[in-house]
Amino acid sequence: MEKTAIFPGSFDPVTLGHVNIVERALPLFDKVIIAVGSNADKKYLFPLSKRVEWLKNTFAQYPKIEVLKYNGLTIEFAKKCGAKFLLRGLRNPADFEFEKAIAQANRELEPKLDTVFFLTSAGLSFISSSMVRDVIKNNGEFNKFVPDAVKT
Ligand code: ADP
Repeated sequence: MEKTAIFPGSFDPVTLGHVNIVERALPLFDKVIIAVGSNADKKYLFPLSKRVEWLKNTFAQYPKIEVLKYNGLTIEFAKKCGAKFLLRGLRNPADFEFEKAIAQANRELEPKLDTVFFLTSAGLSFISSSMVRDVIKNNGEFNKFVPDAVKT
């Protein structure tokens, strides 16, 4: 059976931290679905279409990667995609505490779905989409934190 994982997130915008997690997950799975959230209660800097386009361009050379948008519960979307694994990245203790609660809740709701965590690569742990958004809003030099597709 095909082993599928989904990597859910806002990707507002995609950063080199996200790229690193996806590239490291690739050898473990037959298919990795990058699931781009569109949550009505969340305010994004970039529209869904842009966030999806940047991801598609970034990972165009990988046939195993698919970029899809979704809303609602991540576990429901994972089920719909036939994914048994959910990917998340851990940068620091705050990420760990936050992700632990979500992963445990998800497992309670859907025991067949397991969360796989990747520790961020040392040189990328300070990168977050929110930091990149702040730099962009203040006209700073953000290119070194994002893949080519996002660069201006
Ligand atoms: P969300 O709104 O779901 O947190 P993000 O796009 O901010 O969406 O993050 C998606 C995933 O990518 C999360 O698991 C997050 O921890 C991970 N991630 C973000 N930045 C990095 C990074 N620099 N290194 C490793 N993982 C990261």
